[in-house]
Amino acid sequence: IIVVNNLYKTFNDNIHALNGVNISVNKGEVVTIIGPSGSGKSTLLRCMNLMEVPTSGNVFFKGEALHIKDKNINQLREKMGMVFQSFNLFPHLSVLENITLSPKLVLKMSDEKAKELGASLLNQVGLSDKIDSYPNQLSGGQKQRVAIARALAMNPDVMLFDEPTSALDPEMVGEVLQVMRNLANQGMTMVIVTHEMNFAKDVSDRVIFMAEGEIIEIGEPTQLFNKPKEVRTQTFLKRVL
Ligand code: ATP
Ligand code: MG
Repeated sequence: IIVVNNLYKTFNDNIHALNGVNISVNKGEVVTIIGPSGSGKSTLLRCMNLMEVPTSGNVFFKGEALHIKDKNINQLREKMGMVFQSFNLFPHLSVLENITLSPKLVLKMSDEKAKELGASLLNQVGLSDKIDSYPNQLSGGQKQRVAIARALAMNPDVMLFDEPTSALDPEMVGEVLQVMRNLANQGMTMVIVTHEMNFAKDVSDRVIFMAEGEIIEIGEPTQLFNKPKEVRTQTFLKRVL
């Protein structure tokens, strides 16, 4: 469903964030990306929906090459939900309004249908009781679950997550990972940058280890975590596990 073809991204002519990355993500697959800080994980994820424009190479989504100038780029982007470390909720909108804003504006969904959808998504992330709350009345974990519900409201084909739990207090990490686990079990295609190695081991179909802008190793979680082939993967895992 996503194909990344020989992707390069250079910042300021001298920072080589991505150096020829190739990866394809299949429908229904959960792919996690791990690797040291600065290895290009976020850049790769952001290139997948052209939030970052690649220096060269191509990204295909559902068989179509993405070009920033295409008029349908926004339509394609809407089908890729994105969740960040910082939740980026609209502070002046209620939880329900945060979730229903895009469906109403972009999909022209009626108030009634949007509210129905919002309520059902909040139920899915375990926050039915917060429907009329405002973001500043929520804990970090609750905010992040609203952010996930908001991304799901556009009925995406893929969900991209960039360290969704790393800004959270430890006791809130579990509730967010549980929502993500449920999504994975429902067959959602997901690409997840994470430092949660146990979660990555459990939930992934494939794990990517990146370093210095390259994919060093890709494997099934048991192989990659228990029998990494590359020295750099071994060194990294020794440090973090
Ligand atoms: P982390 O685990 O710390 O989030 P990462 O693997 O996500 O790291 P990236 O954020 O993709 O790493 O960064 C890859 C490289 O590109 C780094 O050297 C970073 O400093 C650089 N970089 C990323 N974004 C920009 C930018 N907007 N301008 C300049 N350099 C950037
Ligand atoms: Mg990052």
